[in-house]
Amino acid sequence: MTTEHVQVAIVGTGFAGLGAAIAMERAGIEHTILERADDVGGTWRDNRYPGCRCDVPSHLYSFSFAPNPDWTETYSPQPEIFRYLRGVAEEHGVLERIRFGHEVRDARWDASAQRWRLETAAGPMTADVVILGNGPLAEPAIPDIPGLDRFEGTMFHSATWRSDHDLRGERVAVIGTGASAIQFVPEIQPLVGSMKVFQRTPPWVLPHRNRRITAAERFVYRRLPVVQRLVRGLVYWSRELFVTGLLRNAKSLDGIEKLARRQLAQQVADPKLRAKLTPDYKPGCKRLLLSNDYYPSLQQPNVEVVTEKIIEIRPNAVVTADGDVHEVDTIIFGTGFRVTDNPVAERVHGADGRTLADHWSETGAQAYLGTTVPDFPNLFLLAGPNTGIGHTSLVVMIEAQLRYIVDALRVMDERDATSVNLRRPVQQAWTAEIQGKAAKTVWNTGGCASWYLDAEGRNTTLWPDHTFRFARRTRRFDPAAYELAAPVGGSR
Ligand SMILES: Cc1cc2nc3c(=O)[nH]c(=O)nc-3n(C[C@H](O)[C@H](O)[C@H](O)COP(=O)(O)OP(=O)(O)OC[C@H]3O[C@@H](n4cnc5c(N)ncnc54)[C@H](O)[C@@H]3O)c2cc1C
Repeated sequence: MTTEHVQVAIVGTGFAGLGAAIAMERAGIEHTILERADDVGGTWRDNRYPGCRCDVPSHLYSFSFAPNPDWTETYSPQPEIFRYLRGVAEEHGVLERIRFGHEVRDARWDASAQRWRLETAAGPMTADVVILGNGPLAEPAIPDIPGLDRFEGTMFHSATWRSDHDLRGERVAVIGTGASAIQFVPEIQPLVGSMKVFQRTPPWVLPHRNRRITAAERFVYRRLPVVQRLVRGLVYWSRELFVTGLLRNAKSLDGIEKLARRQLAQQVADPKLRAKLTPDYKPGCKRLLLSNDYYPSLQQPNVEVVTEKIIEIRPNAVVTADGDVHEVDTIIFGTGFRVTDNPVAERVHGADGRTLADHWSETGAQAYLGTTVPDFPNLFLLAGPNTGIGHTSLVVMIEAQLRYIVDALRVMDERDATSVNLRRPVQQAWTAEIQGKAAKTVWNTGGCASWYLDAEGRNTTLWPDHTFRFARRTRRFDPAAYELAAPVGGSR
């Protein structure tokens, strides 16, 4: 049996994979999409916890080429974003090109054949080019707490929410107080019997400006798309202005701190609880969170905030360092994702047979323009190292990368190249530039530990500049940065 060959294999069907498929279609490039799950949507298919919504306004947190005049709220809830992504996939004819249940388990560059050899859950396949849209926040992280495997109650992560599990009247432990937890805690608090919220570091929480979008506004957006584009532009530029403070750990962040402290003072009467909830680092160092009902929910009589370190899980309890045994029926992890140690990096082998994870073991994750890596020819990462953002829509970054990738494939075609391989010095210069910029940002200097930094304290996740600068750098493929291989023995 011959192994199936495709020109471009796209991994994933979140914003990145779907965007890539649409970009390939428009450029007339043959492609196939491999998705491990049984539906599209990525983040917005998986995260179904109560209260899940985006924290960047939807007019910006959507594809620029597919505005949705029908958003019903300024910050859309998960079901609406999921429907949007599904709708975009349908409208652009992407669904029929997706192979569901095709988890990519292994990918190896075959230098002699100048192609990628993929092992998927449904069998082998080869591809000239691989575009990884496997997601920066697609692998839930569960802390390694002694005794976890012996817990006899129900346990789940916010990204794999057990909607079949009835929390009513239960004693619940919530571990983690990040972006997901502050959304679901207020939603489940009225249902549960009691809730212990285990907090390691308190987040800065700002008032949420979400509101309903009126029928009249939606009518205008439908009739006059230019108005919605204008709103998108306003949201975009206000966020680029805001990030200036984060990039320099500037004085202007004091204003943010004041706003957050005012909300805390207004909403939390008990000085002891307020002290527990007051961060000791600069706002923005960890992701700034938005909520009007998180603090009020923590003050309900059935809720306790526990700041002691968790040292053990017993079959029916969480034990903290002060010796307290907190008996619970269910544990919910709001502990985020494997960002700096994404397992996909262990599955992708470059020209020398070593994995991305091997290549990055000493340097931390790095990719030129967040997209290409030396020794990994014809591999393009979407939402790769240092393309994350703390202030605006990741879709803006993904779309910029897609323009670069389409241009790369165009150049390869024009020059009849079988592969493009990033030159090592280009990567080194890029990393030096990025780390130089990152050193000045609040993410590195704000006095917190966060998932933006890897185990060595390097920022390998966030783009440390304005996003329009990233868009400028990725506008055109730059062949001089690459070694282009010609076909052996003439044309392909
Ligand atoms: C709760 C939550 C809220 C968020 N809110 C915002 C926000 O407001 N603004 C913002 O900019 N960002 C937000 N993000 C970040 C969000 O992840 C990105 O904005 C965006 O959705 C990422 O899209 P993606 O396509 O890169 O990844 P994903 O949406 O994660 O999609 C990755 C896809 O790849 C598939 N996949 C992974 N590995 C494999 C494999 N080996 N083989 C085959 N398929 C594979 C997955 O099943 C998935 O479908 C949020 C994230 C979460 C978790």
